[in-house]
Amino acid sequence: MGKDEKRSVIITGAAGQIGAELSFALAERYGADKIVVSDIRDDTEGRLEGAGRFVKLDVLSKDEFSAAVRRNNVDVIYHLAALLSAVAEGNPQKAWKINMEGLVNALEVARENRCSLFVPSSIGAFGPDTPLDDTPQDTIMRPYSMYGVTKVSGELLCDYYNRKFGVDTRGVRFPGIISNVTLPGGGTTDYAVEIFYRAILEGRYTCYLKPDTSLDMMYMPDAIKAAIEVMEADPAGLHHRNAFNVTAMHFTPEMLAAEIRKHIPGFRMEYKIDPVRQAIADSWPNFMNDSCARKEWGWAPEYNLESMTADMLEVLGKRAAEGGLEI
Ligand code: NAD
Repeated sequence: MGKDEKRSVIITGAAGQIGAELSFALAERYGADKIVVSDIRDDTEGRLEGAGRFVKLDVLSKDEFSAAVRRNNVDVIYHLAALLSAVAEGNPQKAWKINMEGLVNALEVARENRCSLFVPSSIGAFGPDTPLDDTPQDTIMRPYSMYGVTKVSGELLCDYYNRKFGVDTRGVRFPGIISNVTLPGGGTTDYAVEIFYRAILEGRYTCYLKPDTSLDMMYMPDAIKAAIEVMEADPAGLHHRNAFNVTAMHFTPEMLAAEIRKHIPGFRMEYKIDPVRQAIADSWPNFMNDSCARKEWGWAPEYNLESMTADMLEVLGKRAAEGGLEI
């Protein structure tokens, strides 16, 4: 599909950290009348108002999913509904059900209705046997976490549906996403968001990862750019259709604290390690190689650690000054 062609889009899990911002970006690009925002939650407190038509949808109900797509003549599905890494580790059976059965439903609905399908994978798809420095696009993937197991399985399934049924499946492996609209939903990289709120509200933060834990990260505007650009890319150039490594920066908690101190000199960082999230983080890349995404569809992030930190503090600082900052 060409860039200028109008698309009808449904977003699942639209009330989450990524969906709540991606929905508005898609509405701006294709027109809010072309967007259906859906989530199992309907207590979105007006957060999705103006982004499109809201449909309450449990992705485990294939009939409801299919009906929402047919009724709205959808041709592109952004399937974001999932349980994130830390939540998934707390309830692995439920995570398998939502992440895998939900994905199978999305793939089947896409196949039956000839939709393109975006499915985000994650740095969580890697494991301790993966080369953790400069992690290649194609490498060993033996994750230990249930989240990772569902992400690798999902990548394979998306490739399968493309080869077997010709479904236009595409996706990226997102790193930790840093944002300031909707709080993260229980992942291992949530500290990199919470730290900004606590720095502004309290001048201190207790981090659950060790000071030298390096992880890939990305600011939300770049995550949205990746999700839109990979879907609009010329398919002829795509060798890896699914699960492109994409990154924008990598840092450790102590590096992020030092960057925040440039703006808030008295900021104090303490550490109380959560063994579950530390073990997950230790099994994920220190930094990824995203040259395939750069070559195949022109991926280029705009924000680095310095510009992301400055922007986060400015946006949240303004909100705090107006008395509207809560965590
Ligand atoms: P989130 O937890 O903030 O939001 C997920 C949304 O899915 C929630 O609003 C939830 O209500 C909804 N949901 C849960 N079960 C559902 C169901 N059965 N039916 C319909 N909706 C349901 O997650 P997010 O951070 O926005 O992540 C979106 C996607 O991106 C996920 O696939 C996640 O694995 C992936 N991802 C996120 C990050 C990150 O740092 N946020 C990093 C890598 C990959």
